[in-house]
Amino acid sequence: MSDFGAGLNFIIVGASVSGLASAIALKNSSHSVLLLEKARQLGGTGSVPNGSGCAEIPPNGTKILLDWGLETALKANSAPISGFSAYKYAAGEASSPDQLGINCWDPELLSAARGGYSQFLHRDLIHILYDHALEPSAKGGSVSVLFGAEVVNVDCDACSVTLRSGQVHTGDAIIGADGANGVIRRVLLEEEDESPESDVPAEIVAYSSLVPNDLVRKHNLAAVFDGYPGCTVWFGPNRALRTFPTGKDHDVSLLLYTPDSSETGTWTGEVDKNIMDVLGSCDGHIQKLAALAGPATCVQIKQPYDLESWVSQSGRVLAVGDAAHPFSPGTGHSYAVALEDGTFIGKIFSHTRNSNRVPEFFRAFHEHRHMEKEYIFHMTLPDGPFQEGRDAAMRERHASGQNLLHGDLKQMLEDYEMMYPLLLLAAEQPDNNPHRYGYEAADDADEWWISWGRYRDDAAISRGPEGHRPQSGLFNMAFSSFTSQVPGTESVKDI
Ligand SMILES: Cc1cc2nc3c(=O)[nH]c(=O)nc-3n(C[C@H](O)[C@H](O)[C@H](O)COP(=O)(O)OP(=O)(O)OC[C@H]3O[C@@H](n4cnc5c(N)ncnc54)[C@H](O)[C@@H]3O)c2cc1C
Repeated sequence: MSDFGAGLNFIIVGASVSGLASAIALKNSSHSVLLLEKARQLGGTGSVPNGSGCAEIPPNGTKILLDWGLETALKANSAPISGFSAYKYAAGEASSPDQLGINCWDPELLSAARGGYSQFLHRDLIHILYDHALEPSAKGGSVSVLFGAEVVNVDCDACSVTLRSGQVHTGDAIIGADGANGVIRRVLLEEEDESPESDVPAEIVAYSSLVPNDLVRKHNLAAVFDGYPGCTVWFGPNRALRTFPTGKDHDVSLLLYTPDSSETGTWTGEVDKNIMDVLGSCDGHIQKLAALAGPATCVQIKQPYDLESWVSQSGRVLAVGDAAHPFSPGTGHSYAVALEDGTFIGKIFSHTRNSNRVPEFFRAFHEHRHMEKEYIFHMTLPDGPFQEGRDAAMRERHASGQNLLHGDLKQMLEDYEMMYPLLLLAAEQPDNNPHRYGYEAADDADEWWISWGRYRDDAAISRGPEGHRPQSGLFNMAFSSFTSQVPGTESVKDI
């Protein structure tokens, strides 16, 4: 430890995946966390019966849940996935769907990566993380959560946030886990003289909905949508569909990418249009499934501006998860990366309780976690020579018994990206990319500490010009004492 004071006081904006993961990891490192969530209830408004979506977790995320001792909850609430089948989205002449091939995750690769592929209902995952965050810590850390606590202003220098109710909270550090459209990303964009419009809409939206498994079986659709290897991907022209057996009941989650709507909805608000309204011409199996789907949400896909820094100029405010690096809906890694972000931040802060080191640690986070976009898989490619090449390559692999995402297909997909940057929807390829699935966020954090962090002179840092301490007295205060109530909508839960 760099010093032996009480743990630091973190304010986290947003109680979703990256916020809860950061809270768990910081609590495990003996710090105090106040989580501020604008929604009045965990995991959304409850207005969307499907639980507002499907959380796809590849091995690099699953292993974090296992490391936190959540194996029982994981097994009880998720559907394990072995891979996906690829089909043509357009209506074919045969009664069975036009299959391009299959991609199965290599069991050896999954085992080496210490985790499998799991599909949760978004809301179930959030509840598992929330319950774990609120478990008492043997190490003295704590987590408090305020719901109905919308942050409307952030003072990066004073390290404080103001809620819509007028209540002000101050801490040693602020972590923005409030998503792609949140206040922290906006603040960081402003510091770079950019605006939210710098995240450019891609003229394609993602509709999400759910079909209960008993309906899937009743309508004889299970062979396609809940058979081996699990997920399906339907390649458009201009549209695409992904389906996932999801949660403990293997309900089938649909994620449709379509240009047929300009709705700019959220994950928590039901849209007026039904998924049937925006399907376009498609295979009959898709139509049958979509006809059974419940209410839908619709999220606009954007080409996000790449922030130069995830840390405010003051060094006290950090963006994590989608606030830092927004993913398109349904891309395979957003949940795992959000869990990794939390793990990394908690692990580096296990090495200090010195408030003056916050800027340095936050910058280390940005340096280590900043990621390049990796291999992408092109689902909505318009018909033409590239689509023909893609389909032929898949069919050839299938005919020779190979996985779809194999060999030089990677180069071909990268070429497509250059041609159609806005039509891309990503799913990484573990076959070609073992490093990503084998990534260990905690080890990466330790590497930074061993190589850099431990050599710093704490005493000098404490005296240095960047030195910041929140108002005297706050540093050692129990965190719940920050949350003195101002009349408003908040309710506090302390442990
Ligand atoms: C209800 C819901 C359902 C989702 N379903 C899917 C899905 O099916 N498929 C998919 O690919 N992705 C989905 N996502 C997005 C997915 O969670 C993220 O892409 C990824 O996991 C990273 O999460 P995050 O925690 O960084 O951000 P998010 O999950 O976007 O969470 C941000 C959190 O911050 C809160 N917040 C925002 N602004 C403020 C503020 N000013 N003050 C306080 N709190 C604030 C939000 O209410 C939310 O809880 C969903 C997100 C939500 C919120």
